[in-house]
Amino acid sequence: MTPANQALAAARTLSPAEAAHAPLGTAEMLSRLVAFDTTSRNSNLELIHWVRDYLAAQGVVATLVPSEDGAKANLYASIGPAAEGGIVLSGHTDVVPVDGQPWSTDPWALVEKPDGKLYGRGSCDMKGFVAAVLAHVPAFKQARLKVPMHFAFSYDEEVGCLGAHSLAERLMGDVPKPRAVVVGEPTMMGVVNAQNWGGGLIATFTGFEAHSSMTHLGVSAIHFAGEFIHWLNVLQEELAARKRTDIDTVPGHTTINVGVINGGTAGNILARECVLNWGYRTLPGDDAMEVERRAEAYLMGELLPRMRAKHPSANIDLKRRSMVPGIKAEENVVATELALQWTGSNRTFAVPYGTEAGIFRAHGVPTVICGPGDISQAHQPDEFVAASQLKACDAFIARMIEWAERQ
Ligand SMILES: [Zn+2]
Repeated sequence: MTPANQALAAARTLSPAEAAHAPLGTAEMLSRLVAFDTTSRNSNLELIHWVRDYLAAQGVVATLVPSEDGAKANLYASIGPAAEGGIVLSGHTDVVPVDGQPWSTDPWALVEKPDGKLYGRGSCDMKGFVAAVLAHVPAFKQARLKVPMHFAFSYDEEVGCLGAHSLAERLMGDVPKPRAVVVGEPTMMGVVNAQNWGGGLIATFTGFEAHSSMTHLGVSAIHFAGEFIHWLNVLQEELAARKRTDIDTVPGHTTINVGVINGGTAGNILARECVLNWGYRTLPGDDAMEVERRAEAYLMGELLPRMRAKHPSANIDLKRRSMVPGIKAEENVVATELALQWTGSNRTFAVPYGTEAGIFRAHGVPTVICGPGDISQAHQPDEFVAASQLKACDAFIARMIEWAERQ
């Protein structure tokens, strides 16, 4: 084992007090965080309690915002004066599953390979940023901050940004108005100031069962769900024809996807139920609700009457599963200028995916996305973050601290 990997392995089992006493570098902190299996289906409380105790050992009081069932929690904490104009550093603590992925290392044990990359689930998306923030707690404490630093760590980002809503609400209601939010999703430390709006929906079609030789007696939920999918495909083509050139994301138009379909019980029965888990992503500046509004009008105005004409008990239910608001460049100027200053860069980016940035932005604070690692690594087997990216994130935070001392 190389000295670097010995240090990572040793850090993996440190208690919060030990970690606070012998301050961890960003890579060692990341090793500690990766060791918690915080796949979204699991509780994240072990990690959250560790972070709470680590902060407490350094005199920082954290507030937990539990999920409704208490199985998970968000955490927020502040360092510095109780003043307006602070910076919120935001990250999610959950990761996507490793099930069925061909990993060549233990996904829950961070390993540095000779290629200068650190491998582990969440190394890139996005415990790397959270680790950099936590590793700088001693530096934040020592600095003469004129404005506060707020930490906001959420649960259930990977399953529709579910935790961040209550986190943003509690944090923004609790602390003096911050100046900017930095969401540390992997952007290779580039400054992202625009993201798509994302909506997730569940459409449940309820038909009426009949033998497949007597189609006139029943209503197949699957056949009507199929019509809806076809309708979505046609809409998708219409949206693609409205491709925009004023934005640098690919494919440059609103997209639609039916991700999961469930229905039916046998080949010779008209299906009683069919459930579609689908969603759309709308470009910043486009009509965010267009897809949802038109889908609802089609389902309720056209499909449902035709189903009911076959059998009065037929039904369609459309429920929103998740909602991630987009962000627009022009509403995030203050945060963009700061992040460009701290990264030493002069250009910004837009991204087609959704992050918690839209949820924070909805509270009226300029927000950017900027964090270590490459988004193309996210959710992959052998996910990694380059050590150089962690260093770049360390430098970003160091400049942020210098800035906060000058305010
Ligand atoms: Zn992420």
